[in-house]
Amino acid sequence: MADKKILVVEDEVHIAEGLRFNLEEEGYRATVAETGEAALALATQFDLVILDVMLPGMDGFQVLGNLREQGCFVPVLMLTARGRPEDILRGFASGADDYLPKPFDLSILIARVNGLLRRAAWTRQNAASDSEFTIGDRVIDFRTMEVRHGEARFPLTLMEANLLRYLIKHEGEAISRSRLLEDVWGVREDTDTRAIDNFIVRLRRYLEEEPSQPRHLFTVRGVGYRFVR
Ligand code: CA
Repeated sequence: MADKKILVVEDEVHIAEGLRFNLEEEGYRATVAETGEAALALATQFDLVILDVMLPGMDGFQVLGNLREQGCFVPVLMLTARGRPEDILRGFASGADDYLPKPFDLSILIARVNGLLRRAAWTRQNAASDSEFTIGDRVIDFRTMEVRHGEARFPLTLMEANLLRYLIKHEGEAISRSRLLEDVWGVREDTDTRAIDNFIVRLRRYLEEEPSQPRHLFTVRGVGYRFVR
């Protein structure tokens, strides 16, 4: 993991510098951006982004939304003072890969960073042996992290790829939203589960000919979802 480049997006100088110092102690190369606008310009050059929600101007959710819209799928760890489940889910729904409420313990943050980089590497490596999965005329490519449909390409975030992998592994089973949250996101089940629905909407856009009449990713009323090839 040494030599990985991490972008710290945080306007509070003492927190940003503390993070930069500690990440560099761990062997990472860290750069600080103080605004969301600066982060957007830089993010594609990094292996991981630590993104604070509270920023002057554009906030962390907007930065993340913009990054994903621009097709930048660098792993993002969000930081916020608000640890409420709905904020966690909003973070995940906007495409965050992990989430840590402030104030946080530095050793926990480092552990999350290590874990996220490992998970990103694992998703790609694991993909190497089992890299493609065909559904109708679409191909999910876990190596390049995209869904291909003719000339169209739909890039996947880490969480979208992990969710797809999980659904494929459990093909045919009705899986509850709380089980998905717990197994895919590692979030406990007392959390509001509606954010899952946003992910399913996006996956249907990638996988279904007619997203409003799914043939692969079914809603199971009162339970959750069921995937069939
Ligand atoms: Ca801040």
